[in-house]
Amino acid sequence: MTTDCLFCKIVAKNIPSTIIYEDEHVFAFEDIAPQAPVHVLVIPKKHIASLDLVKEEDRETMGVVMERTAHIARMLKVNEKGYRTIINTNGDGGQVVYHIHVHILGGKPIGAMVSR
Ligand code: 5GP
Ligand code: ZN
Repeated sequence: MTTDCLFCKIVAKNIPSTIIYEDEHVFAFEDIAPQAPVHVLVIPKKHIASLDLVKEEDRETMGVVMERTAHIARMLKVNEKGYRTIINTNGDGGQVVYHIHVHILGGKPIGAMVSR
């Protein structure tokens, strides 16, 4: 755990969240400012600051995050109609929280690519 990281604090339950899914490696919770009827963030419990900092040693972790993201989308029943996954990276990518996270957005048509 990185003590000054907001999402590490959420994983540690020092900051409350609406938990959607949790296992040994992965944590998923509702976004505090939802942009769609379903807006969930899926994160590795391991602190990785951004996609830009994913290393060879993180291959398995990130594979699990993506597989669990698909599982959670099925759990939330957005898979058949469809959903969008987003990983924002660094400043121009719109990243605000520097603990890598996959946004799951669904429950309505998400429309064209955001912020073009
Ligand atoms: P980013 O822009 O870094 O990809 O996304 C960060 C996301 O984290 C935003 O959608 C924002 O609403 C969400 N967020 C920020 N602070 C909190 C918090 O304290 N709790 C929860 N559940 N979500 C948060
Ligand atoms: Zn963290």
